[in-house]
Amino acid sequence: MSEKAIQQDAQTPEQSRHDYLMGKTLADFVIQRRPTPDIFAWTKEFDEATNYQAEQGHHMYRRVLLSANGSHVTVEDPKTKQPREMIMMGSNSYLGINNHPKVKAAALAAIDKYGVGAGSPPHFSGYYDLHRELEKGLSELKGTEDTILYPSGYSTNVGLISCFMGPKDTIILDKLAHASIIDGALLSGAKITTFRHNDMNSLERVLEQTGKNAQGDRLVIVEGVYSMDGDIAPLKEIYELVKKHNAKLMVDEAHSTGVLGKTGKGSPEHFDLEGKLDFVMGTFSKSLGGVGGFVSAKKEVVKYLRFYSRAYFFAASPTPMQVAAQIAALDVLKTEPIWNQRLWENIKYFHAELRKRNFDIERTQTAITPVVIGDSWKMREITKILHENNVFVNPVPYPAVPRKKDRLRLSLSATHTREDLDKVLAALDEANAKHNFEMQEEQ
Ligand code: PMP
Repeated sequence: MSEKAIQQDAQTPEQSRHDYLMGKTLADFVIQRRPTPDIFAWTKEFDEATNYQAEQGHHMYRRVLLSANGSHVTVEDPKTKQPREMIMMGSNSYLGINNHPKVKAAALAAIDKYGVGAGSPPHFSGYYDLHRELEKGLSELKGTEDTILYPSGYSTNVGLISCFMGPKDTIILDKLAHASIIDGALLSGAKITTFRHNDMNSLERVLEQTGKNAQGDRLVIVEGVYSMDGDIAPLKEIYELVKKHNAKLMVDEAHSTGVLGKTGKGSPEHFDLEGKLDFVMGTFSKSLGGVGGFVSAKKEVVKYLRFYSRAYFFAASPTPMQVAAQIAALDVLKTEPIWNQRLWENIKYFHAELRKRNFDIERTQTAITPVVIGDSWKMREITKILHENNVFVNPVPYPAVPRKKDRLRLSLSATHTREDLDKVLAALDEANAKHNFEMQEEQ
């Protein structure tokens, strides 16, 4: 049933209240749409709509996990408050490293030796032998001279972009750039322009136009793998174009580290561009199973960031236990290629099954698997059906994705078994039988 259909059925006051509250979407409550000066009136309205939707099983955010975030999880059911055993299809831990015995042991040993907090930002007393070792490991991973660590991937993008770009500069973004990239660009005060997603003609046009009277420098920012669509940036062509037009290139490796490349090192390895990219940014929160972020680049570039990147200079260092866990995670990546292989077997199997069913999975090529539903109400209803079938998926509405591209975002992991994936497919089939989300044949 579409939102319009719900409204047309409205009869009693209870029914119309129901329709009104269920018709609300997260997009309706963005701050730009606030009709009154009073922010608390706005938050009250938001609270009422989301509480009502939660009662109807339509608000599946911040479900409480009672176990490690593996392929099987225990979740506190939002309604009954009882534990529910579920198949997790919503974690970005693509290799299962967050729960790897070696990684857990490394974190525990670091707590034993160093305690739990770093105590200070890195320039003062928050820089340990562990931080230095991880920087070295990441530089090897990305084929660069040096690396800087940040407390999160989000702050890495904000800290990197706003450090180097200013009002005279131009930032050139793929249309699907992640929020943390956009926020870094906005904070920098640079001119921002976009090109069509993964479209090389469009990028070239923008490079030509922005090159004409360019006063400052130009930075092109792309993602190795796109976070909501799962497709891969054609990095070789992007690199050639950026060099031809004398601009700089930054690649966000959040979803490609551990996934792409012969040995899972990410996009530079996959495209044979190791040592050639100007800025390689990454996070620990996906394949590497932890939290934090990094930038790998030339020595002097990293040194400059260490002094002038405010998100680094003014923030406490990642904790020794997190850093120790990441050192162990890099070791797992290097010595246990089986996880990357299993992930790719799962990607091939699952995507082929979804394509057979004619579901709209965009152009995904990797672990991130969108199933586009298009309508916010329907997306929430399908998420509820999946939840009742013990399948945990993340519903992603507009404005986190483009309009009418509301979707389920499923993430594959190396630790999913074929049986898990078949159960997920059966649950999707059940939901599809009720709320057809197959792509319609073009007329
Ligand atoms: N870049 C991209 C492409 C991302 O998808 C994310 C997180 N979803 C980030 C950066 C931010 O990373 P983190 O969550 O580790 O802060």
